[in-house]
Amino acid sequence: MNYDRTSPAWIKAKMDIKDLRFQKQWGQNFLIDGNVVENILSALDLTPEDTVVEIGPGLGALSERLIERVEHLVAVEIDRQLAHELARDFPRIEVITGDILKVDPTVFPRGAKVVGNLPYYITSAIIMHLLESAWDFDRLVIMMQKEVAERISASPGSKDYGVLSVITQLYCEVDYLFSVSRSCYMPSPKVDSAVVRLWPKPERDRSIVPVVKAAFSSRRKTIQNSLRNVYSPDKVSRALQRAGLEPTRRAETLSLGEFRQLAEAIDEA
Ligand code: SAM
Repeated sequence: MNYDRTSPAWIKAKMDIKDLRFQKQWGQNFLIDGNVVENILSALDLTPEDTVVEIGPGLGALSERLIERVEHLVAVEIDRQLAHELARDFPRIEVITGDILKVDPTVFPRGAKVVGNLPYYITSAIIMHLLESAWDFDRLVIMMQKEVAERISASPGSKDYGVLSVITQLYCEVDYLFSVSRSCYMPSPKVDSAVVRLWPKPERDRSIVPVVKAAFSSRRKTIQNSLRNVYSPDKVSRALQRAGLEPTRRAETLSLGEFRQLAEAIDEA
């Protein structure tokens, strides 16, 4: 077979010959648009010396082109059969068979570039897993459900602004790169996608995460009441006063700077 791996004919033939099935529970929607693959690779700005970590390589639509351009590609795939096929077809790829959420990201080389057409069912969990770890990566270029990409890029006050927006933006500069139609996948999912690039900021202060989660723990409540789900009422009052925040504000109105102040104040209160 001489087609590239974004060709529906190649995908069908490979799946028939190897008796593979689309595993819906693992979010298997394979890319069938070579231009989208190229645009994702451009955002990685690759040089041959780069190490790339790919999450969910599937049948290899991205991996096939990545391995032509870099020395070292590590790919983490949960589906044993797909992982086996990829390792057999591309002996130079270091294939890790398993759940990305169970891999400690610090095992990956420092400074690696991360790419993935992420499975929808755990997109936010994967992003949080990578950002909350102590791993130093160069950048993430990831494709996800459009709605999640909008949440990641949301500004304070908008309906999409939540834990994912705040943590991602505290840790990274976010570029919403482009949208991808559902027709670029096989099988076609029910929603459109988007590609986002995240550049890590120099310091990721992980102690902020529990405070952000607590502040959003009851979305319709004031920050005072939400924080009281987790911290004592006295501590909450002292912290809000110290941070100069009105107790009646709601978490979705707080800027990144205000979240930083709040986390510091909780720590000291
Ligand atoms: N990269 C391929 C492409 O673009 O055609 C496949 C993308 S598909 C949306 C997501 C891939 O992630 C599937 O191959 C799926 O088996 C894999 N996957 C799902 N859950 C995973 C997990 N927890 N850890 C690692 N890989 C996972």
